[in-house]
Amino acid sequence: MTPSPSLLVTPGPVATSPAVRAAMTADRSAAEPGMIAALRQMQTRIGALVRADAAYAVIPVPGSATQANEMVLRALPPPGATVLIVTNGAYGDWLASLCVAMGRGHRVLRSAPLEPIPPERVATVLEADTAISHVAFVHVETSSGLLNPLPEIAAICRRLGRGLIVDAVAAAGIVPLDVAHARPEAVVLSSNKGLQGPPGLAWVVTERAALERGRGFAASSSLDLFDQHQHVERTGTFRFTPPTQVLCGVAAALEELEAEGLSARSARYRENWEAAAAVLTAAGFPPLLRPPHATPIVVTVALPEDGPSPAGVTDAMAHRGYVLVPGRLAVPRTVRLGCIGALTPADTARAAEALAEVLGADPPTAAG
Ligand SMILES: *Cc1c(COP(=O)(O)O)cnc(C)c1O
Repeated sequence: MTPSPSLLVTPGPVATSPAVRAAMTADRSAAEPGMIAALRQMQTRIGALVRADAAYAVIPVPGSATQANEMVLRALPPPGATVLIVTNGAYGDWLASLCVAMGRGHRVLRSAPLEPIPPERVATVLEADTAISHVAFVHVETSSGLLNPLPEIAAICRRLGRGLIVDAVAAAGIVPLDVAHARPEAVVLSSNKGLQGPPGLAWVVTERAALERGRGFAASSSLDLFDQHQHVERTGTFRFTPPTQVLCGVAAALEELEAEGLSARSARYRENWEAAAAVLTAAGFPPLLRPPHATPIVVTVALPEDGPSPAGVTDAMAHRGYVLVPGRLAVPRTVRLGCIGALTPADTARAAEALAEVLGADPPTAAG
């Protein structure tokens, strides 16, 4: 895992391994038997990763995870029903923006950005508003790194008979998911982030019965999740030209995840996070969130009052060979150092040293 000239220390896209990049160099046809077999194996691996049972379908969709979120919001809630978007960060807010753009009835329940969503507030809203058919929220809020309480919110949805849609894009490979137990109607994952694949593909794990109930809801052709599912089941490939090289890269990434093991993967991410957090804390920039609420997707620190702007930090880090992404913040004037991808604790510690320097800490004294 040698750092490339510019190392991605972002929550996505993430640094990938040489094997993943090498898998993407050949020209491939989507319909060749090897590709069809590889896609089926990936579907099986994704299903196993989130512990889905036979009641669920694993649907690959091309494009960004946001597009997959939109496909789910089109496919499952009945037109005319209300979707409750529960949000405590920029990615949760984005789910509400999708509803606005597609004209879906929705309500927004906003909670404090650095605290897990309080499940009892969700229950109160659902008990009072029977027009709400579905609840949607972000499991790991990437804008801060916060972990939201999936089992508790899922239990409330089951008790009150509402469908649940989970954006688990930043959770996959990082925190365990148990679909067979939580029984959401849909979970959305990405090809990159903690799965360490290239960007360009997303996964929807959805309850087959819910998808069937929503047949005809999509009001779109290219964003019709039901059609994509039917086509993949029938032919083993996509309705429209899939990103074939990306599929090959994702297949390699899922093989690597299986070889590393999910618990070893998340333990490495936790070590990456601890290494960066230790450097930043010693330099006077303690993380805004700590475990158990902080997941290891990012370390979030506040920018000093008289320090550089978020864009200035990004530029200065780029000069030092580290790519950060500005924007999409849960709290203004914060900066996030990504700890996922093909990185080691030594990589994140070095990136954190560069960040501390950029933020204006005294350079660390030589060890010893
Ligand atoms: C990255 C991310 C997304 C969006 O993914 P894109 O592929 O950029 O559309 C959505 N939700 C969460 C929680 C994410 O971390």
